[in-house]
Amino acid sequence: MRRRSNPDLPPPPELPSFTVEPEMEEASPSILERHASTGLQRHDAPLDDDAIDPDAAKVVRRLERSGYQAYLVGGCVRDLLLGIRPKDFDVATSARPDDVRALFRNCRIIGRRFRLAHVLFGGGKVVEVATFRRNPTEADSDEDDDLLIRSDNVFGEAHEDALRRDFTLNALFYDLDRRQVLDWCGGMPDIQARTIRTIGDPGVRFREDPVRILRAVRFSAKLDLGIDPAVYDAMVASRAELARAARPRIFEEILRLMRVGASHRSMWLLWEIGAMAILLPELSAYLDDDEATDEGSARFFEKLTLLDKKTREGHGALDDVVLMTALLYEPLEEAASGTRDLMGAVNDFLDPVIDRIAMPRRIADGIRRIMFMVPRILAGKIGRFARTELFLPALDVAELVLASRGESTHRIEALRRDAMPPPPTREARRTSAFPRQRGARR
Ligand code: ATP
Ligand code: MG
Repeated sequence: MRRRSNPDLPPPPELPSFTVEPEMEEASPSILERHASTGLQRHDAPLDDDAIDPDAAKVVRRLERSGYQAYLVGGCVRDLLLGIRPKDFDVATSARPDDVRALFRNCRIIGRRFRLAHVLFGGGKVVEVATFRRNPTEADSDEDDDLLIRSDNVFGEAHEDALRRDFTLNALFYDLDRRQVLDWCGGMPDIQARTIRTIGDPGVRFREDPVRILRAVRFSAKLDLGIDPAVYDAMVASRAELARAARPRIFEEILRLMRVGASHRSMWLLWEIGAMAILLPELSAYLDDDEATDEGSARFFEKLTLLDKKTREGHGALDDVVLMTALLYEPLEEAASGTRDLMGAVNDFLDPVIDRIAMPRRIADGIRRIMFMVPRILAGKIGRFARTELFLPALDVAELVLASRGESTHRIEALRRDAMPPPPTREARRTSAFPRQRGARR
């Protein structure tokens, strides 16, 4: 098993005792019936009430009072069990989207193929409420050998909803009333072993949805989890399938890898499993060729270490344009070196990337302009562009580049202080054409 240890992370939780569903006398017969012979194990795992979002708890309780099943699910249960503060809270329920809307005034339905209810609270908080769904079977699809899932809006039962999820530790449901974790696929032991394991055959699950390969990379990097060897092998064996995935999802996942403060580990893993050679062959080839690039891979990874540090110590993720420029900086610089037409060289480099990972034009334009500014900033030649909106993002990139070369960043700090008073907030500086999405899946 691939294990990494990180002393900053809390130890895994003790595996609580569990009771098998049929022994639970207080359970209502209908739920008992529904869960009977589904392979359910209930683990007593009282989670810290203060760590559970009160609005998400309100949503669950109102659904339950109205006669529906409702649980906290997915990333929030996983993170709570790992002792990490969840980013957001998702609810799974037997109620259909329109039933949910009828119960909550502050609710809107989103998505066409993947209909979900968003219950809105103050401060922009969104609790996502999804109806139990199951993996479409052959009967639901007209494809024969093709495993790629194109639509997954088939409603189902709770256990089917657990089994259609990607990894065992993402498939745990939390029953607020009984303070129990519902586990249909061995997620609790995997949480304890800090291991990423697919639900079912990893080769099949990655072929169904190759983006899961990138999700495994993200969870391993962000949560410091090991990857089960069979899963790791399937990630390597299935990497070419990434070329078939919906390209906007690929772009969003690459951004997510860069945003979470674990870009170094994510990119290293992506390179190691050969997925980078499919998605960003320009970068992969650059990293492969240390002789020609004078140890460029060391500079690349050093830069990501600094980027992660900035993300963790600052107020969250840097601007998306900064992240993407930082990711591609070394091969871009190499492509532009020795040419008099920097913009032309950057365009030639970016055109196939834009096409392959559906990079939005707006991000690509930002990268072009920052690649024009950074050499000038490094040479101390600040021109008119100091008054443009991309100057601060360009300073962020220049700072990372200097630091990755072991050089002082004092002058960048001075430039930042002088630039554009009053400094805009990080939120205002976010120039992404791709706002963070809730519940973006297929
Ligand atoms: P994060 O904390 O990074 O948001 P998450 O686990 O909540 O992690 P989401 O992308 O928000 O990830 O998805 C929520 C849940 O939906 C997951 O925990 C998983 O159970 C399920 N899920 C998401 N994407 C997929 C997928 N591609 N295939 C199967 N299940 C998925
Ligand atoms: Mg989530």
